[in-house]
Amino acid sequence: MLAFKKTIQLFLISGSLLLLSNDPAFSQDEIFRSKDSVKEVVTISQTIDTIQQRIYQFNQAGIKFSCDFLGGRINNVTQKNDSVFTVLSSAENYPINPSPWYAFFIIAQQPKKIFIELTYTNSKHRYYPKISTDGKSWKTVDSTLVQFIQPGKEKFGTGSMPQSAVVTVNLNNNDTVWLAAQEIISSKDVSDWINRLPINKKITHGIAGHSTYGKDIKYFTIGKIKKDKPSVVIISRQHPPEVTGYFAMQKFVEVLLGGEKFSRKYRKKFVTYVVPLMNPDGADYGHWRHNAGGIDLNRDWLQQHQPEVKQVNHLIDSATRSNHSKILFFIDFHSTWDDIFYTNSVTKKSNLPGLMDAILSEMEKELQQGKLNIKQSEKNESFVSKGYFYNNYNAESVTYEVGDNTSKDIIERKGKVAAQSFLKSLFNLYK
Ligand SMILES: [Zn+2]
Repeated sequence: MLAFKKTIQLFLISGSLLLLSNDPAFSQDEIFRSKDSVKEVVTISQTIDTIQQRIYQFNQAGIKFSCDFLGGRINNVTQKNDSVFTVLSSAENYPINPSPWYAFFIIAQQPKKIFIELTYTNSKHRYYPKISTDGKSWKTVDSTLVQFIQPGKEKFGTGSMPQSAVVTVNLNNNDTVWLAAQEIISSKDVSDWINRLPINKKITHGIAGHSTYGKDIKYFTIGKIKKDKPSVVIISRQHPPEVTGYFAMQKFVEVLLGGEKFSRKYRKKFVTYVVPLMNPDGADYGHWRHNAGGIDLNRDWLQQHQPEVKQVNHLIDSATRSNHSKILFFIDFHSTWDDIFYTNSVTKKSNLPGLMDAILSEMEKELQQGKLNIKQSEKNESFVSKGYFYNNYNAESVTYEVGDNTSKDIIERKGKVAAQSFLKSLFNLYK
């Protein structure tokens, strides 16, 4: 509390002097190395705190905060003085990975400058704030308007997280200003994207099943399904806040749907299953990581207690089995502290040996930015999707992680290069 008051004073006195460490674009002189080994946990559903997506009204200040929309999350707002508000976000349940989500909009009745402190239950601050005036187009908040309280000392991981962040927002009459941890991509936005995809490219839409809250788990296939035609599986957003991974997935898919010769040939020879939003409940209710069963879906692939994993696996399993289709490649898009590829150790002959290595070396050649950040799993754990698809279906598999702060143009370039490298390697190796 004291630290907050002190920094606010400092902020008011010295303006931009405090802003030096706030640049979200990290330089690449230090490489993110994941230290955490994944642990198996029981994935039977747990009780979660359901969020009330509602309005917080401050009549005297003439301000209201709202998280009453798909993807919205604040668990409380308190007013400290005329212009300082504290927003609290709590997770759906604990323990949980430190990916504290927040998303809300603010409306003021009269022009006003306010300071919003972003705080969390049992977590520090992680996601650099994004701002929007319509909830659709977003940018990162100008670094002169964000101040970190007790900044972290490290570059990545929990050691890099400040205690909280204070965002200065200038509101005009009845302006709506949205603030969020990442761009808000709800199940509706994902549906809109799916519906915008070119229908002349042999896309078939489907529903793998329903989430706990009854939301559709949508998928689509690219290329006609035929007997003996090999398959490729693409999934994304098992973890709701991991929107940068979703953007890379979009680019990857758009290349597969493109007009280039390779893409056309690919659609003739292979069928692709795409599940762009594995966790619609989590995305729409602003969960930090889990589904409505309070479970990390990427720990449930072996036990399959959760409807999302169970139904998606059933869809792919039955479709590929009944068509005698081998799954050649599986890719699961996520976000973490920095761009990184998690691969499996080679412990047996896959359906297309060497594909993953070929893709990564092709990407390295194409991007010309030195070595890619690659981490090979030691145990190929089957409870994680990429281990599951390798162990059960002999698919070459990867978790494609995009940095939380990776800029959109880099995400799109890498996503495109990844898809092109995949196509090139696939055609080199698949005879
Ligand atoms: Zn993830």
